Amino acid sequence: MLYVVSDNIIYSDVTMEFFETGKELIDLVRRNPTEENQNENETLRNIRKDIGDLAENQNANAIIEQSNPFFSLRRLTFIMTNACNFRCSYCYEDFYENGKLNSPKNQIININSCIKYVEKISNIYNKIESICFFGGEPLLELNNIQSICKELKERGYNIHFSIITNGSIYNDKVYSLLKNYQFSITVSLDGPEEYHNLTRISRNGVGTYKNVVNNIKNMLTDGLPVSIQGTLTMEHIDKGFGIIDFSKFLKKEFNISNAHIVPVQYDGNSQIQWNNSAIEKLIKSYLDYDIYNIKKIEEGRYEDILFSSAFFDVLIAIINKRRNYLICPSGTELAVSTEGVLYPCFMLVNKDCIRPLGDLNTPNKIIKNNILNYIQETMKANTRFCRSCYAKNICHGCVGANVNENKSINIPSRLLCTLTKERVKNVIIYINDLQKDKRRWKNFVDNFNLCFSSKRNNYEC
Ligand code: SF4
Ligand code: SF4
Repeated sequence: MLYVVSDNIIYSDVTMEFFETGKELIDLVRRNPTEENQNENETLRNIRKDIGDLAENQNANAIIEQSNPFFSLRRLTFIMTNACNFRCSYCYEDFYENGKLNSPKNQIININSCIKYVEKISNIYNKIESICFFGGEPLLELNNIQSICKELKERGYNIHFSIITNGSIYNDKVYSLLKNYQFSITVSLDGPEEYHNLTRISRNGVGTYKNVVNNIKNMLTDGLPVSIQGTLTMEHIDKGFGIIDFSKFLKKEFNISNAHIVPVQYDGNSQIQWNNSAIEKLIKSYLDYDIYNIKKIEEGRYEDILFSSAFFDVLIAIINKRRNYLICPSGTELAVSTEGVLYPCFMLVNKDCIRPLGDLNTPNKIIKNNILNYIQETMKANTRFCRSCYAKNICHGCVGANVNENKSINIPSRLLCTLTKERVKNVIIYINDLQKDKRRWKNFVDNFNLCFSSKRNNYEC
Protein backbone atom coordinates (compact mmCIF):
# COMPACT_ATOMS: atom_id res chain seq x y z
CA MET A 1 0.00 0.00 0.00
CA LEU A 2 1.18 3.55 -0.69
CA TYR A 3 1.09 6.27 1.95
CA VAL A 4 1.61 10.02 1.79
CA VAL A 5 4.39 10.99 4.20
CA SER A 6 4.62 14.67 3.33
CA ASP A 7 3.55 17.05 0.58
CA ASN A 8 6.06 15.49 -1.82
CA ILE A 9 7.04 12.07 -0.41
CA ILE A 10 5.29 8.72 -0.90
CA TYR A 11 6.13 5.59 1.09
CA SER A 12 5.40 1.96 0.15
CA ASP A 13 4.96 -0.39 3.09
CA VAL A 14 5.57 -3.36 0.78
CA THR A 15 9.02 -2.32 -0.46
CA MET A 16 9.73 0.01 2.49
CA GLU A 17 11.01 2.51 -0.10
CA PHE A 18 10.10 6.18 -0.21
CA PHE A 19 10.47 8.68 -3.01
CA GLU A 20 9.65 12.23 -4.01
CA THR A 21 6.79 12.80 -6.38
CA GLY A 22 4.51 15.55 -7.72
CA LYS A 23 1.22 16.89 -6.46
CA GLU A 24 -0.80 14.77 -8.89
CA LEU A 25 0.29 11.43 -7.42
CA ILE A 26 0.19 12.76 -3.86
CA ASP A 27 -3.44 13.79 -4.38
CA LEU A 28 -4.29 10.49 -6.06
CA VAL A 29 -2.86 8.46 -3.15
CA ARG A 30 -4.61 10.74 -0.68
CA ARG A 31 -7.93 10.19 -2.47
CA ASN A 32 -7.35 6.42 -2.29
CA PRO A 33 -9.73 5.67 -5.20
CA THR A 34 -12.24 2.90 -4.74
CA GLU A 35 -13.26 0.17 -7.20
CA GLU A 36 -16.05 2.42 -8.51
CA ASN A 37 -13.62 4.99 -9.81
CA GLN A 38 -12.21 2.67 -12.49
CA ASN A 39 -9.89 5.16 -14.22
CA GLU A 40 -8.20 6.48 -11.11
CA ASN A 41 -8.03 3.03 -9.66
CA GLU A 42 -6.32 1.69 -12.78
CA THR A 43 -3.80 4.57 -12.81
CA LEU A 44 -2.87 3.97 -9.20
CA ARG A 45 -2.63 0.20 -9.74
CA ASN A 46 -0.19 0.71 -12.62
CA ILE A 47 1.97 3.06 -10.55
CA ARG A 48 1.96 0.61 -7.64
CA LYS A 49 2.87 -2.22 -10.02
CA ASP A 50 5.81 -0.21 -11.42
CA ILE A 51 7.28 0.44 -8.00
CA GLY A 52 6.73 -3.08 -6.64
CA ASP A 53 3.97 -2.10 -4.24
CA LEU A 54 1.59 -4.72 -5.63
CA ALA A 55 3.80 -7.60 -4.53
CA GLU A 56 2.26 -9.77 -1.85
CA ASN A 57 3.25 -8.69 1.63
CA GLN A 58 4.97 -11.64 3.25
CA ASN A 59 2.64 -13.50 5.54
CA ALA A 60 3.71 -12.27 8.96
CA ASN A 61 2.28 -15.28 10.85
CA ALA A 62 4.30 -17.67 8.69
CA ILE A 63 7.43 -15.58 9.22
CA ILE A 64 7.10 -15.81 12.99
CA GLU A 65 6.70 -19.59 12.79
CA GLN A 66 9.70 -19.95 10.45
CA SER A 67 11.83 -17.71 12.65
CA ASN A 68 11.84 -20.32 15.45
CA PRO A 69 10.64 -18.18 18.37
CA PHE A 70 12.05 -20.71 20.84
CA PHE A 71 15.62 -20.48 19.59
CA SER A 72 16.75 -18.05 22.25
CA LEU A 73 15.02 -16.07 25.03
CA ARG A 74 16.29 -12.50 25.10
CA ARG A 75 15.48 -11.77 28.73
CA LEU A 76 13.86 -13.51 31.69
CA THR A 77 12.94 -11.04 34.43
CA PHE A 78 12.35 -11.99 38.04
CA ILE A 79 10.22 -9.58 40.07
CA MET A 80 12.19 -10.10 43.27
CA THR A 81 9.82 -8.11 45.49
CA ASN A 82 6.81 -5.79 45.36
CA ALA A 83 8.31 -3.75 48.17
CA CYS A 84 10.12 -0.51 47.48
CA ASN A 85 11.78 2.17 49.57
CA PHE A 86 10.60 4.84 47.09
CA ARG A 87 7.11 6.15 46.37
CA CYS A 88 7.48 7.56 42.85
CA SER A 89 4.41 9.51 41.82
CA TYR A 90 3.99 7.66 38.49
CA CYS A 91 4.88 4.14 39.64
CA TYR A 92 2.80 1.36 38.11
CA GLU A 93 3.19 -0.73 41.25
CA ASP A 94 0.02 -0.58 43.38
CA PHE A 95 1.37 2.12 45.68
CA TYR A 96 -1.12 4.67 44.46
CA GLU A 97 -4.81 4.45 43.70
CA ASN A 98 -6.66 7.57 42.55
CA GLY A 99 -3.67 9.61 43.71
CA LYS A 100 -3.76 8.12 47.26
CA LEU A 101 -1.09 5.93 48.79
CA ASN A 102 -1.97 2.24 49.24
CA SER A 103 -0.30 -0.03 51.69
CA PRO A 104 2.37 -1.98 49.75
CA LYS A 105 2.09 -5.77 49.43
CA ASN A 106 5.70 -6.56 50.39
CA GLN A 107 5.66 -9.91 48.64
CA ILE A 108 8.94 -11.58 47.69
CA ILE A 109 9.75 -14.25 45.13
CA ASN A 110 10.76 -17.75 46.19
CA ILE A 111 14.37 -18.37 45.15
CA ASN A 112 13.85 -22.10 44.56
CA SER A 113 11.11 -21.16 42.12
CA CYS A 114 13.58 -18.92 40.27
CA ILE A 115 16.03 -21.81 39.84
CA LYS A 116 13.22 -24.13 38.74
CA TYR A 117 12.04 -21.49 36.27
CA VAL A 118 15.50 -21.27 34.72
CA GLU A 119 15.51 -25.08 34.35
CA LYS A 120 12.01 -25.09 32.90
CA ILE A 121 12.57 -22.21 30.49
CA SER A 122 15.86 -23.79 29.37
CA ASN A 123 13.81 -26.79 28.27
CA ILE A 124 11.49 -24.55 26.27
CA TYR A 125 14.18 -22.37 24.62
CA ASN A 126 17.61 -23.46 23.36
CA LYS A 127 19.15 -20.65 25.36
CA ILE A 128 18.34 -17.92 27.90
CA GLU A 129 20.47 -14.90 27.00
CA SER A 130 19.92 -12.79 30.06
CA ILE A 131 18.28 -12.74 33.49
CA CYS A 132 17.09 -9.42 34.82
CA PHE A 133 16.30 -8.71 38.48
CA PHE A 134 13.56 -6.16 38.98
CA GLY A 135 10.98 -5.13 41.58
CA GLY A 136 9.75 -3.02 43.55
CA GLU A 137 13.36 -2.40 44.45
CA PRO A 138 15.28 -5.62 43.75
CA LEU A 139 18.29 -4.73 45.92
CA LEU A 140 16.05 -5.02 48.99
CA GLU A 141 16.45 -8.73 48.22
CA LEU A 142 20.21 -8.64 47.80
CA ASN A 143 20.84 -11.97 49.57
CA ASN A 144 18.28 -13.75 47.42
CA ILE A 145 19.78 -12.34 44.21
CA GLN A 146 23.19 -13.46 45.41
CA SER A 147 21.89 -17.01 46.08
CA ILE A 148 20.24 -17.24 42.66
CA CYS A 149 23.37 -16.10 40.79
CA LYS A 150 25.61 -18.44 42.82
CA GLU A 151 23.34 -21.44 42.26
CA LEU A 152 23.00 -20.80 38.52
CA LYS A 153 26.76 -20.40 38.06
CA GLU A 154 27.40 -23.60 40.06
CA ARG A 155 24.95 -25.42 37.81
CA GLY A 156 26.94 -24.22 34.79
CA TYR A 157 24.44 -21.81 33.26
CA ASN A 158 26.10 -19.24 31.03
CA ILE A 159 23.61 -16.39 31.37
CA HIS A 160 24.19 -12.64 31.48
CA PHE A 161 22.77 -10.88 34.57
CA SER A 162 21.23 -7.43 34.69
CA ILE A 163 19.37 -5.36 37.26
CA ILE A 164 17.03 -2.39 37.15
CA THR A 165 17.34 -0.43 40.40
CA ASN A 166 16.29 2.91 41.86
CA GLY A 167 19.94 3.47 42.80
CA SER A 168 19.29 4.03 46.50
CA ILE A 169 21.29 1.07 47.84
CA TYR A 170 24.99 0.78 47.15
CA ASN A 171 27.54 -0.65 49.56
CA ASP A 172 30.39 -3.20 49.55
CA LYS A 173 28.02 -6.16 49.42
CA VAL A 174 26.11 -4.74 46.45
CA TYR A 175 29.40 -3.93 44.71
CA SER A 176 30.66 -7.53 45.17
CA LEU A 177 27.45 -8.99 43.75
CA LEU A 178 27.44 -6.69 40.71
CA LYS A 179 31.17 -7.08 40.07
CA ASN A 180 31.48 -10.84 40.67
CA TYR A 181 28.58 -11.73 38.41
CA GLN A 182 29.36 -9.04 35.80
CA PHE A 183 25.98 -7.35 35.97
CA SER A 184 24.70 -4.71 33.57
CA ILE A 185 23.09 -2.07 35.75
CA THR A 186 20.24 0.27 34.90
CA VAL A 187 19.53 3.05 37.39
CA SER A 188 16.43 5.23 37.25
CA LEU A 189 17.13 8.95 37.35
CA ASP A 190 14.75 11.64 36.15
CA GLY A 191 17.26 14.35 35.28
CA PRO A 192 18.63 17.18 37.43
CA GLU A 193 17.60 17.52 41.08
CA GLU A 194 14.71 19.95 40.47
CA TYR A 195 12.97 17.37 38.23
CA HIS A 196 14.05 14.11 39.84
CA ASN A 197 12.90 15.18 43.30
CA LEU A 198 9.45 16.12 42.03
CA THR A 199 8.60 12.51 41.25
CA ARG A 200 11.17 10.14 42.75
CA ILE A 201 10.66 10.51 46.47
CA SER A 202 11.50 8.17 49.33
CA ARG A 203 8.92 6.37 51.46
CA ASN A 204 9.31 9.28 53.90
CA GLY A 205 8.45 11.83 51.22
CA VAL A 206 11.99 13.18 50.78
CA GLY A 207 13.70 13.80 47.40
CA THR A 208 16.18 11.03 46.53
CA TYR A 209 18.43 12.82 44.01
CA LYS A 210 21.58 13.33 46.09
CA ASN A 211 21.73 9.73 47.29
CA VAL A 212 21.08 8.25 43.83
CA VAL A 213 23.59 10.50 42.07
CA ASN A 214 26.20 9.74 44.69
CA ASN A 215 25.65 6.01 44.20
CA ILE A 216 25.78 6.21 40.40
CA LYS A 217 29.09 8.08 40.64
CA ASN A 218 30.49 5.52 43.08
CA MET A 219 29.41 2.65 40.82
CA LEU A 220 31.12 4.30 37.85
CA THR A 221 34.27 4.98 39.88
CA ASP A 222 34.22 1.30 40.85
CA GLY A 223 34.20 0.39 37.16
CA LEU A 224 30.64 -0.95 36.97
CA PRO A 225 28.69 -0.63 33.69
CA VAL A 226 25.78 1.71 34.42
CA SER A 227 23.08 2.93 32.08
CA ILE A 228 20.26 5.30 32.96
CA GLN A 229 16.52 4.91 32.62
CA GLY A 230 14.88 8.34 32.65
CA THR A 231 11.25 9.36 32.67
CA LEU A 232 10.17 12.61 31.01
CA THR A 233 7.18 14.30 32.60
CA MET A 234 5.13 17.36 31.74
CA GLU A 235 7.24 19.32 34.27
CA HIS A 236 10.37 18.69 32.19
CA ILE A 237 8.65 19.59 28.95
CA ASP A 238 6.81 22.65 30.27
CA LYS A 239 10.09 24.11 31.50
CA GLY A 240 11.71 23.48 28.11
CA PHE A 241 13.88 20.59 29.37
CA GLY A 242 13.59 18.13 26.47
CA ILE A 243 15.24 14.83 25.65
CA ILE A 244 18.40 16.48 24.22
CA ASP A 245 18.85 18.48 27.45
CA PHE A 246 18.20 15.34 29.50
CA SER A 247 20.73 13.29 27.51
CA LYS A 248 23.34 16.06 27.59
CA PHE A 249 22.88 16.38 31.35
CA LEU A 250 23.63 12.65 31.76
CA LYS A 251 26.65 12.93 29.51
CA LYS A 252 28.03 15.92 31.42
CA GLU A 253 27.27 14.59 34.89
CA PHE A 254 28.30 10.94 34.43
CA ASN A 255 29.75 10.65 30.92
CA ILE A 256 26.85 8.27 30.17
CA SER A 257 25.41 8.40 26.65
CA ASN A 258 23.28 5.25 26.58
CA ALA A 259 20.16 6.43 28.35
CA HIS A 260 16.66 5.09 27.81
CA ILE A 261 14.45 8.14 28.23
CA VAL A 262 10.72 7.67 27.85
CA PRO A 263 7.68 9.87 28.43
CA VAL A 264 5.74 9.04 31.59
CA GLN A 265 2.81 6.80 30.81
CA TYR A 266 -0.78 7.49 31.67
CA ASP A 267 -2.30 4.68 33.74
CA GLY A 268 -5.48 6.21 35.10
CA ASN A 269 -3.65 8.65 37.36
CA SER A 270 -4.96 12.00 36.09
CA GLN A 271 -1.98 13.92 37.47
CA ILE A 272 0.29 12.45 34.81
CA GLN A 273 -2.03 12.64 31.81
CA TRP A 274 -0.40 14.62 29.01
CA ASN A 275 -2.35 17.60 27.69
CA ASN A 276 -2.29 18.45 23.99
CA SER A 277 0.08 21.37 24.27
CA ALA A 278 2.57 19.29 26.26
CA ILE A 279 2.30 16.45 23.71
CA GLU A 280 3.15 18.92 20.94
CA LYS A 281 6.23 20.12 22.83
CA LEU A 282 7.21 16.54 23.65
CA ILE A 283 7.02 15.55 19.99
CA LYS A 284 9.11 18.54 18.95
CA SER A 285 11.69 17.58 21.55
CA TYR A 286 11.98 14.02 20.14
CA LEU A 287 12.08 15.23 16.52
CA ASP A 288 14.95 17.60 17.34
CA TYR A 289 16.72 14.79 19.15
CA ASP A 290 16.42 12.39 16.19
CA ILE A 291 17.78 14.95 13.73
CA TYR A 292 20.57 15.88 16.16
CA ASN A 293 21.64 12.21 16.26
CA ILE A 294 21.35 11.69 12.50
CA LYS A 295 23.62 14.68 11.95
CA LYS A 296 26.18 13.36 14.44
CA ILE A 297 26.17 9.99 12.64
CA GLU A 298 26.64 11.73 9.31
CA GLU A 299 29.57 13.73 10.69
CA GLY A 300 31.06 10.57 12.24
CA ARG A 301 31.04 12.22 15.68
CA TYR A 302 30.09 9.06 17.55
CA GLU A 303 31.14 10.44 20.93
CA ASP A 304 28.41 13.10 20.61
CA ILE A 305 25.60 10.66 19.78
CA LEU A 306 22.92 10.51 22.46
CA PHE A 307 22.07 6.84 22.27
CA SER A 308 18.52 5.55 22.57
CA SER A 309 17.26 2.16 21.47
CA ALA A 310 13.97 3.49 20.09
CA PHE A 311 15.80 5.89 17.79
CA PHE A 312 18.16 3.17 16.53
CA ASP A 313 15.20 0.86 15.98
CA VAL A 314 13.62 3.37 13.61
CA LEU A 315 16.89 3.86 11.72
CA ILE A 316 17.64 0.13 11.45
CA ALA A 317 14.16 -0.52 10.08
CA ILE A 318 14.50 2.27 7.51
CA ILE A 319 18.11 1.65 6.45
CA ASN A 320 18.14 -2.17 6.49
CA LYS A 321 14.44 -2.56 5.66
CA ARG A 322 14.08 -4.71 8.74
CA ARG A 323 10.43 -5.12 9.60
CA ASN A 324 9.19 -4.99 13.16
CA TYR A 325 6.29 -7.44 12.96
CA LEU A 326 5.46 -7.33 16.65
CA ILE A 327 4.14 -4.38 18.63
CA CYS A 328 7.16 -4.84 20.90
CA PRO A 329 9.52 -7.53 22.26
CA SER A 330 7.08 -8.71 24.97
CA GLY A 331 6.55 -12.44 24.45
CA THR A 332 10.07 -12.73 23.06
CA GLU A 333 11.07 -11.93 26.63
CA LEU A 334 9.33 -13.18 29.77
CA ALA A 335 8.85 -12.21 33.41
CA VAL A 336 8.01 -14.09 36.61
CA SER A 337 5.90 -12.39 39.29
CA THR A 338 6.61 -12.63 43.03
CA GLU A 339 3.81 -15.22 43.15
CA GLY A 340 5.70 -17.35 40.62
CA VAL A 341 3.42 -16.71 37.63
CA LEU A 342 4.84 -16.31 34.12
CA TYR A 343 4.02 -13.21 31.99
CA PRO A 344 5.18 -11.86 28.58
CA CYS A 345 7.03 -8.86 30.13
CA PHE A 346 7.64 -7.29 33.54
CA MET A 347 5.31 -4.44 32.60
CA LEU A 348 2.46 -6.89 32.14
CA VAL A 349 2.78 -8.70 35.46
CA ASN A 350 -0.52 -8.91 37.40
CA LYS A 351 -2.40 -6.77 34.87
CA ASP A 352 -6.09 -7.71 34.78
CA CYS A 353 -6.31 -7.77 30.98
CA ILE A 354 -3.27 -10.05 30.56
CA ARG A 355 -3.66 -13.82 30.53
CA PRO A 356 -0.69 -15.33 32.40
CA LEU A 357 1.38 -17.77 30.33
CA GLY A 358 1.40 -20.39 33.09
CA ASP A 359 3.38 -21.31 36.17
CA LEU A 360 5.86 -23.98 37.27
CA ASN A 361 3.13 -26.64 37.17
CA THR A 362 2.02 -25.82 33.63
CA PRO A 363 3.29 -28.38 31.08
CA ASN A 364 5.95 -26.89 28.75
CA LYS A 365 3.83 -27.68 25.71
CA ILE A 366 1.03 -25.48 27.03
CA ILE A 367 3.42 -22.65 27.94
CA LYS A 368 4.85 -22.79 24.40
CA ASN A 369 1.38 -22.65 23.00
CA ASN A 370 0.44 -19.69 25.22
CA ILE A 371 3.59 -17.82 24.15
CA LEU A 372 2.82 -18.43 20.47
CA ASN A 373 -0.77 -17.26 20.97
CA TYR A 374 0.45 -14.10 22.71
CA ILE A 375 2.92 -13.39 19.90
CA GLN A 376 0.13 -13.86 17.34
CA GLU A 377 -2.06 -11.44 19.30
CA THR A 378 0.63 -8.77 19.36
CA MET A 379 1.51 -8.98 15.69
CA LYS A 380 0.71 -5.68 14.05
CA ALA A 381 -0.82 -7.52 11.10
CA ASN A 382 -3.40 -8.94 13.51
CA THR A 383 -4.32 -5.71 15.27
CA ARG A 384 -6.99 -3.38 13.96
CA PHE A 385 -5.13 -0.11 14.63
CA CYS A 386 -1.64 -1.04 13.47
CA ARG A 387 -2.62 -3.08 10.40
CA SER A 388 -3.44 0.02 8.35
CA CYS A 389 -0.76 2.30 9.82
CA TYR A 390 1.97 3.51 7.46
CA ALA A 391 4.58 3.21 10.23
CA LYS A 392 3.74 -0.38 11.15
CA ASN A 393 6.95 -1.97 9.80
CA ILE A 394 9.10 0.60 11.53
CA CYS A 395 7.29 1.31 14.79
CA HIS A 396 8.58 -0.06 18.09
CA GLY A 397 5.59 0.29 20.43
CA CYS A 398 5.08 -0.96 23.98
CA VAL A 399 2.29 -3.35 24.96
CA GLY A 400 2.88 -2.25 28.57
CA ALA A 401 2.04 1.33 27.60
CA ASN A 402 -1.06 0.13 25.71
CA VAL A 403 -2.23 -1.78 28.76
CA ASN A 404 -1.48 1.08 31.16
CA GLU A 405 -3.36 3.57 29.03
CA ASN A 406 -6.15 1.51 27.46
CA LYS A 407 -6.33 -1.74 29.46
CA SER A 408 -5.81 -3.56 26.18
CA ILE A 409 -2.87 -5.31 24.54
CA ASN A 410 -3.44 -3.93 21.09
CA ILE A 411 -5.11 -0.55 21.38
CA PRO A 412 -2.04 1.67 21.01
CA SER A 413 -1.12 4.21 23.65
CA ARG A 414 -2.22 7.53 22.13
CA LEU A 415 0.93 9.22 23.34
CA LEU A 416 3.43 6.66 22.02
CA CYS A 417 1.50 6.16 18.79
CA THR A 418 1.33 9.88 17.96
CA LEU A 419 4.98 10.30 18.88
CA THR A 420 6.08 7.32 16.76
CA LYS A 421 4.16 8.39 13.67
CA GLU A 422 5.70 11.86 13.81
CA ARG A 423 9.21 10.52 14.47
CA VAL A 424 9.04 8.06 11.58
CA LYS A 425 7.77 10.78 9.22
CA ASN A 426 10.49 13.18 10.33
CA VAL A 427 13.28 10.62 9.84
CA ILE A 428 11.95 9.55 6.43
CA ILE A 429 11.91 13.17 5.22
CA TYR A 430 15.50 13.70 6.40
CA ILE A 431 16.77 10.37 5.02
CA ASN A 432 15.04 11.05 1.70
CA ASP A 433 17.12 14.20 1.44
CA LEU A 434 20.32 12.34 2.34
CA GLN A 435 19.66 9.69 -0.31
CA LYS A 436 19.60 12.28 -3.09
CA ASP A 437 23.40 12.44 -2.89
CA LYS A 438 24.76 8.89 -3.30
CA ARG A 439 28.14 9.64 -1.71
CA ARG A 440 26.57 11.37 1.26
CA TRP A 441 24.17 8.45 1.71
CA LYS A 442 26.88 5.78 1.51
CA ASN A 443 28.97 7.67 4.05
CA PHE A 444 25.95 7.88 6.35
CA VAL A 445 25.16 4.14 6.10
CA ASP A 446 28.82 3.21 6.72
CA ASN A 447 28.95 5.49 9.75
CA PHE A 448 25.65 4.15 11.05
CA ASN A 449 26.76 0.51 10.83
CA LEU A 450 30.02 1.29 12.58
CA CYS A 451 28.33 3.30 15.27
CA PHE A 452 25.52 0.83 15.87
CA SER A 453 27.83 -2.17 16.22
CA SER A 454 29.73 -0.30 18.96
CA LYS A 455 26.51 0.58 20.81
CA ARG A 456 24.53 -2.62 20.43
CA ASN A 457 25.64 -4.10 23.76
CA ASN A 458 23.62 -1.42 25.44
CA TYR A 459 20.49 -2.29 23.57
CA GLU A 460 17.38 -2.33 25.77
CA CYS A 461 13.71 -1.75 25.08
S1 SF4 B 1 2.43 4.08 15.15
FE1 SF4 B 1 0.63 3.42 16.37
S2 SF4 B 1 -0.83 2.48 14.91
FE2 SF4 B 1 1.20 2.67 13.90
S3 SF4 B 1 2.16 0.66 14.21
FE3 SF4 B 1 2.85 2.01 15.87
S4 SF4 B 1 1.39 1.68 17.56
FE4 SF4 B 1 0.47 0.84 15.70
S1 SF4 C 1 8.24 -2.37 24.94
FE1 SF4 C 1 7.14 -2.34 26.93
S2 SF4 C 1 5.78 -4.17 27.01
FE2 SF4 C 1 7.23 -4.37 25.30
S3 SF4 C 1 8.85 -5.63 26.10
FE3 SF4 C 1 9.52 -3.50 26.35
S4 SF4 C 1 8.77 -2.83 28.36
FE4 SF4 C 1 7.73 -4.77 27.85
